[in-house]
Amino acid sequence: MNDKKGFILKRTGHLVYLHAPLLAEDELTKHAFSTRTGGCSIGAVRSLNTAFHTEDQAEKVLENRFRFFRIFKIDHLQIVSAIQVHGTNLEEFGLHNRGEGATPGSMKKHCDALVTAEPEVTLTAYAADCQLLFFKAIDRPLIGLAHAGKAGTLGAVGPKVIRYLNQHYNVPSDRLLVGMGPAICRKCYRISKPEMELFSREGWGDKQYLEKYDQDLWSLDLTAINKAQLISSGVRKEHIAINHWCTACRQDLFYSYRRDRGKTGRMIGFIAINGKETGDL
Ligand SMILES: [Zn+2]
Repeated sequence: MNDKKGFILKRTGHLVYLHAPLLAEDELTKHAFSTRTGGCSIGAVRSLNTAFHTEDQAEKVLENRFRFFRIFKIDHLQIVSAIQVHGTNLEEFGLHNRGEGATPGSMKKHCDALVTAEPEVTLTAYAADCQLLFFKAIDRPLIGLAHAGKAGTLGAVGPKVIRYLNQHYNVPSDRLLVGMGPAICRKCYRISKPEMELFSREGWGDKQYLEKYDQDLWSLDLTAINKAQLISSGVRKEHIAINHWCTACRQDLFYSYRRDRGKTGRMIGFIAINGKETGDL
């Protein structure tokens, strides 16, 4: 499970989070994906819920974010996030965007893919079953973060980030590292016939991606499809931190929208370029 190529568990005090060593080798950036442990939320969103768009109190979400980002010496009131719309829109963020999404109602951009080349612009996204993709240019201060659920994966949000970095920053695909965050596994994820048909039409009808479960349901493998998209976009296999974690199987670690029938919290994923003040981390 704790494959060096994937995300591994780390603990700081009461907080447990995931980290991909592959993305941290040149020390230009920092990143992590939270688990549900070590927070102050109660009930269905117990305990480290990080998203306002849940049945939780804003002050608890803020306290949880404070506890999480303190580990990485990041001011949680300066992070950036967008309104996730389950699409493939991409937006670039700069210093002037800091704080967008840090408090309830402060998000401005609608997108599921975020990019920045600015140090100390902490890109964040939220998930409970959807897959977050963490992008980083090798030896360059340039990063991206994508939220790939059913719609984002179908629309190939990962390749969209790669194309953007190719076109706007001249980064070839084979100079990118990608971390694939925890997501619902194929055993836990069932989709309907119309959804299956959409994926089949896009070329994902093969058994390694999509498999019949019963009369009306099909099993979908988000991680396998996202990985195939990355590789066909030119990312090298050895530059991918593959996902081995299922958010639905591991109730002890993760919120799962499917498993918890919508009444649940969200994990947060972040990636940031180290600045002068934080470059020692
Ligand atoms: Zn599972």
